[in-house]
Amino acid sequence: IVRVTGVVKNFDLGKIVVEVLKGIDLEIETGKYISIMGPSGSGKSTLFNMIGGLDKPTEGKVFIDEVDIAQLDAYELAWLRCRKIGYIFQTFNLIPVMTALENITIPMTFAGVSSDEALKKGMDLLSQVGLAGRHEHRPSELSGGQQQRVAVARALANNPSIILADEPTGNLDLTTGEEIIKLLKELSIERGVTVISATHDYKMLNVSDQVIWIRDGKIEKIQQREELNISTGGLASAH
Ligand code: ATP
Ligand code: MG
Repeated sequence: IVRVTGVVKNFDLGKIVVEVLKGIDLEIETGKYISIMGPSGSGKSTLFNMIGGLDKPTEGKVFIDEVDIAQLDAYELAWLRCRKIGYIFQTFNLIPVMTALENITIPMTFAGVSSDEALKKGMDLLSQVGLAGRHEHRPSELSGGQQQRVAVARALANNPSIILADEPTGNLDLTTGEEIIKLLKELSIERGVTVISATHDYKMLNVSDQVIWIRDGKIEKIQQREELNISTGGLASAH
């Protein structure tokens, strides 16, 4: 279970303080597929940074399986971020000097997986995201969408139980985007992985158990799957 309570995030820029998250409360059950939607700048990536333990809330707490992540020491936090959470960054964050395969194997090596095993799994993951044959390419030698798929593969490397996917289809064409959504949905159904995805992609709604709408740093509404089926048509035509 991922639980967010009273999370406020301000950025103090010296002359001004930017209030980005204005009190977020959320409870996400294990194995659910959640989409977080909302306008650009509404705070989705900032919220992901809080849940993934990459940044600390100004106020409030994040609990992962009932553990307050602010209480973790550096080792435990690294373990959480490497083993338990798979993070797909909006800006990919691949290591430029490393090949696609190396980018994917790093978290496995860090987790103590043997290099043979890591390489084998890395190749498997590359083919799962449709990039077989691209293992020797560095990020600069890949298209934006291909880099995004490497980022997806890397996030899956250590079989995380939670995937934080920040716009995982943002740079993909329709078909490739659908394949990534399908892959994430399969993980959620078959392995009980909790998928939390920030997205502008209305295709994502079709597979979501719940959609959380964020506006201006606050939760505007939470829709369950049943409510979505009724309203998706309306939403799709409204945008
Ligand atoms: P998008 O859909 O474009 O990805 P988002 O919902 O992910 O948008 P965020 O990236 O969370 O939006 O940004 C929310 C707001 O927080 C923006 O106004 C941004 O300028 C501000 N912000 C984010 N990080 C910082 C920072 N480190 N310092 C100051 N302001 C920040
Ligand atoms: Mg964002």
